[in-house]
Amino acid sequence: MSAALPFLPFSRPTIDEATITAVGEVLRSGWITSGPKVAAFEARMSEYFGGRPVRTFNSGTCTMEIALRIAGIGPGDEVITTPISWVATANVIIEVGATPVFADIDPLTRNIDLDLVEAAITPRTKAIIPVYLSGLPVDMDRLYAIAKKHGLRVVEDAAQAFGAEWRGQRIGAFGDFVSFSFQANKNLTTGEGGALVLNNLEEAKLAEKYRLQGVTRSGVDGIDVDVLGGKYNMSDIMAAIGLGQFANVEAITAHRRALARRYYEAFGPAFEAQSGAQLPLQAFDSSNYHLFQIILPDRGPTTRADFMRAMQERFNVGTGYHYAPIHLFSLYRARGFKEGMFPVAEKVGRLTVTLPMFYAMTTADVDRAVAAVKAILIP
Ligand SMILES: *Cc1c(COP(=O)(O)O)cnc(C)c1O
Repeated sequence: MSAALPFLPFSRPTIDEATITAVGEVLRSGWITSGPKVAAFEARMSEYFGGRPVRTFNSGTCTMEIALRIAGIGPGDEVITTPISWVATANVIIEVGATPVFADIDPLTRNIDLDLVEAAITPRTKAIIPVYLSGLPVDMDRLYAIAKKHGLRVVEDAAQAFGAEWRGQRIGAFGDFVSFSFQANKNLTTGEGGALVLNNLEEAKLAEKYRLQGVTRSGVDGIDVDVLGGKYNMSDIMAAIGLGQFANVEAITAHRRALARRYYEAFGPAFEAQSGAQLPLQAFDSSNYHLFQIILPDRGPTTRADFMRAMQERFNVGTGYHYAPIHLFSLYRARGFKEGMFPVAEKVGRLTVTLPMFYAMTTADVDRAVAAVKAILIP
């Protein structure tokens, strides 16, 4: 009977008509690459983040890579990060020639364990890349206390955390480098894209060079190249989408939090004991609920693959898998990482499942997803 209902994906972007019109205007304007829309999008975000400089790029991945380059991180340097993230988070460390060092995650927040970060610091450590998985920040006071004590830079992988907060302050409005992604599934999207919040205009100038071949222009025809940059700029087409999304940023976060509340209500207080599964931490004043992830029981009635298949085939409900432990990918095994090194990450990586969560979703959709999960896990 449920299979007759339309497919409920785990994520779907919402682009309103005003945004589609704005994109059409850019396409007709005669200027489609980086231009006035990019400048306007950066200015809107800078205002949102308390006046800190913001520069845009064409992915969250290159945004983090450029932050590492601005920080001067390269060969011989170590950067500490979490094994539970999209692989981009660790790849960028290798990309700049530095060495990724992992610290295991906390089983409740599923974010990097800051005690283990401190234990992993060596004289070569130059930076920390914390990830705010599902839009839940780490303990930001503790993070920056550690960074200050050891003289480390922080590149916050806030790809999932647009609209999230810490003690009433927006993620991005304080701290060191803060990197966002606007990939299609993110809370705010430009199709693909990213933005970096920086500390000062000097860093912002460097960011502009790194995103466009290292070029500096002056006067009518003056041009010089003094750093090796790449091609990482955002187009006005993307920025027009971003501006359209930005108009709804408060509503997007509020709606996701309301959906998360409905998830907890629909699962009810007995669900964890009955199923052996684990719900995410309740954090309505900080998380933006980018994802709603449950950890399946270790010895439940089904494997994760069977669970995901049953959700799809029996109930027409999509699920996702975020994320496989990075250290167990072949590229990382070749660098000496192996099973057993980060047991909490390995367990979460084996059992985590992402349930549907997106702006256009309704509370009835939540109830449907929860009913399906219960039917499978509590047979
Ligand atoms: C999406 C994401 C990225 C990568 O962003 P792109 O825009 O796809 O390059 C990095 N880290 C995390 C945690 C993400 O969710």
